[in-house]
Amino acid sequence: MLDTEVPVLIVGGGGCGLAASVFLSDAGVRHLLVERRESTSVLPRAHYLNQRTMEIFRQYGIADDVYRISCPPAHMSEVVWRTSLAGDGPLDARDLHRMESFGGGSTTGPYAADSTGPSTNLPQHRLEPLLRRHAEERAPSSLHFHHEMTGFTQDEDGVTARITDRSTGEVSTVRARYLLGADGGRTVGSSLDVPMDGAGGGFTIISVHFSADLRRWWSGDLVLMTHIISPDGEVSVVVATGPSWGLGSEEWALHFRVPPGAAVDLGAAAIATRVRELLKLPEDLDVQVRHVSEYRPEGVVARSFRAGRVFLAGDAAHRQPPAAGGGLNTAIQDAHNIAWKFGAVFGGQAGDALLDSYEAERLPVATRNVSWAMTSLLNYGVLFTSLGMVHGQPEATRANFRELLSDTPMGETRRTVVREVFGTQRMEYQAHDIELGHYYTAGAVLPDGTPPPPRDPMGATYHPVTRPGHRLPHAWLLHGDTRVSTHDLVGSQAGFVLITGPLSEGWAVAAKKAADAHGVALTVVPIGTKTDAADYQDAEGTWAAVRGIDDDGALLVRPDQHVAWRSVQAGPHIDRELGAAFRRILGHSDVTTTGS
Ligand SMILES: Cc1cc2nc3c(=O)[nH]c(=O)nc-3n(C[C@H](O)[C@H](O)[C@H](O)COP(=O)(O)OP(=O)(O)OC[C@H]3O[C@@H](n4cnc5c(N)ncnc54)[C@H](O)[C@@H]3O)c2cc1C
Repeated sequence: MLDTEVPVLIVGGGGCGLAASVFLSDAGVRHLLVERRESTSVLPRAHYLNQRTMEIFRQYGIADDVYRISCPPAHMSEVVWRTSLAGDGPLDARDLHRMESFGGGSTTGPYAADSTGPSTNLPQHRLEPLLRRHAEERAPSSLHFHHEMTGFTQDEDGVTARITDRSTGEVSTVRARYLLGADGGRTVGSSLDVPMDGAGGGFTIISVHFSADLRRWWSGDLVLMTHIISPDGEVSVVVATGPSWGLGSEEWALHFRVPPGAAVDLGAAAIATRVRELLKLPEDLDVQVRHVSEYRPEGVVARSFRAGRVFLAGDAAHRQPPAAGGGLNTAIQDAHNIAWKFGAVFGGQAGDALLDSYEAERLPVATRNVSWAMTSLLNYGVLFTSLGMVHGQPEATRANFRELLSDTPMGETRRTVVREVFGTQRMEYQAHDIELGHYYTAGAVLPDGTPPPPRDPMGATYHPVTRPGHRLPHAWLLHGDTRVSTHDLVGSQAGFVLITGPLSEGWAVAAKKAADAHGVALTVVPIGTKTDAADYQDAEGTWAAVRGIDDDGALLVRPDQHVAWRSVQAGPHIDRELGAAFRRILGHSDVTTTGS
């Protein structure tokens, strides 16, 4: 029986809920997680983990475990669009376009400079067990799989949830101060009647996880994903899912579109045949179907992420099509945002008002990420048109493909046009700024009146800044003989960090006063310049280029590595200013509600 009282009840043990459990444990927040499935996901689904997610995993000591089994950059640096994977007809296995992806090839420079590590690829059925292990190591008796939340009520002081043990049918009652709905949108949001704004993608995707030896036909050792756009009008994408990578991947995920309501035989034999047909693989190739699932992509965002004592996170709060690979990343980053706030509330440093900043900060980010994915998806219509796909006219489509791939002057013209049009899909595969450049203009941040940096409309060029609301820029520092990132200054245990220039004396005193007054953990870290005695040295000069403060200035960094407040120089009243900043950030006086 689970009858118990707990500060936070997490409903859902997908990527969002499991990450939330890890983050809450390190923030010292007791919690319970219930997951209706018997085990973690058996489906590959999400696979791309962007650099921001990997930075967060580094903060919690998870990144190295992920990198150990995930796809190395060398095998995910290209994305390809082809007419088919195999086949020997004149229009078969022809490249339509190749694009550098995920920080590979000539795009490596900024990706490597701006973050502690590369983005990576690890499908959900391999990531979730790893997250579960980290969560259970921290909170051994807090995770309950095969337990479903079957209803809840809330009052002024908390939430009362009914939990059904699906193995025994036994029903328990859990009383929690707050409920975090990380259920993918199945129960929590709908029972609160929170409207979802947006629309469905208008088609269904069948996902097939299968094993096969594709090395003879795969589009290259650098390639993670191959989109198939066939002259017959079929559209699908194949993703390597490991456990080896590159040509040697043993498992694959094939996603293909079908019109809504279309009857598809989902039996293993029929699906294996479909896989061979879609990819034009030999009829006798051994294709072992592991799992089949279907879903309808949506682009929706909940109108509110908080209803009383209940918070929505991950797919429960926003759902987006797989294009641009942002769903799970946004979900993990939601959990990261709210965990330290729960820590501050239960640690007695903050009031409940701090929790309102979760929606103020995350809803605009989710809205932007969902729009980005929808626009990336819509852009496929432009690609299809440039290739000459004519809806409902297979003969015309085939004729257009023949011309496109012909050795004629018009073929060359058409290929040039296609190359330029396909280049716009870099918004999906080279979205460096979308992944790192998000910032909060309202919430637990104090805008300093400076304008944000310009944003690249194609989402590629990221500008590192320490403007309040932005993620702390990464720069390598020397700590003794060890190279550490500015991010490493912010541990996982929900403490604040005051990064100062080398002239830090006044700040140390102000910080002690503020920490004592608010009961917060606050570490002062002066970053020096080789000529002084600071513990952390900007030996490569990269911090100086982005720090945005003078030698006597300071940055207050939140436990989630976002800058909360900035003082470019030390004025005469720094202790008062720092104290006031903490009061506002922690929700003791007006948490700011307007952007700069
Ligand atoms: C084909 C495909 C490819 C994708 N590719 C990417 C990608 O490359 N990168 C990316 O970032 N995202 C991607 N996504 C999106 C990603 O899968 C989702 O955004 C992500 O799974 C959301 O995680 P979540 O934990 O919020 O929700 P979910 O993964 O849906 O987890 C919710 C969990 O809650 C449980 N649950 C539900 N109701 C209850 C209840 N009442 N009681 C207890 N438990 C409950 C469910 O069983 C489930 O395990 C992809 C999605 C698909 C379908």
